Amino acid sequence: MKQIRLPVLLLFLLAGCATRSHLYWNVRELVLVPEPTIALTAPGERLILSVNKQTIQKVFLSHLRITRAAKVQADLLLVDGEDPNAFAALVNGRRVIAINAAMARLVGDDVDEFAALLGHETAHWAKGHVDARKTRANGIQAAGTLVGVGLGMAGVPGAGYISGFGADLIEASYSRDDEREADAFGVEYMTAAGFDAGATV
Ligand SMILES: [Zn+2]
Repeated sequence: MKQIRLPVLLLFLLAGCATRSHLYWNVRELVLVPEPTIALTAPGERLILSVNKQTIQKVFLSHLRITRAAKVQADLLLVDGEDPNAFAALVNGRRVIAINAAMARLVGDDVDEFAALLGHETAHWAKGHVDARKTRANGIQAAGTLVGVGLGMAGVPGAGYISGFGADLIEASYSRDDEREADAFGVEYMTAAGFDAGATV
């Protein structure tokens, strides 16, 4: 038990700083959790997000269908965060689409709304909006799975740790044209994937 205390303490210190750092969970792993409700926790058992496993499975399926429609490959992550946000970024050279905890809480169990979000972020990838800012996005680093984080609940995979970015800054750095294009193609992808585009509003 003693060995895990130090990294957890370090994490607390880092999280307390003004540095923009986030815990993350790969949705691909969360869909395998046996529990009907998944509790994502930070060190000290602080609850980041409690999600319905069925919703998470449907969201992951939407992600697979939407990225296939857009001919894009990306990992889907849940990250911690207080202000509702979603973003597309390169993390350790891998394409990532992330939804933060505040946004997931806001959307709740509305899978169409999740699909609208995923369509928009997937379009940022498909239309090359992220690649254009590669140099900056490459600053994002992910640490491996942290021992002692999220392991309190049966079967819930441990969180990883991302630093070097602000989710708000990533989304704010797209041009208005990029956003319009992401909205338009996002609707196209989610419709192609079989979702109700009315949820985009
Ligand atoms: Zn956007």
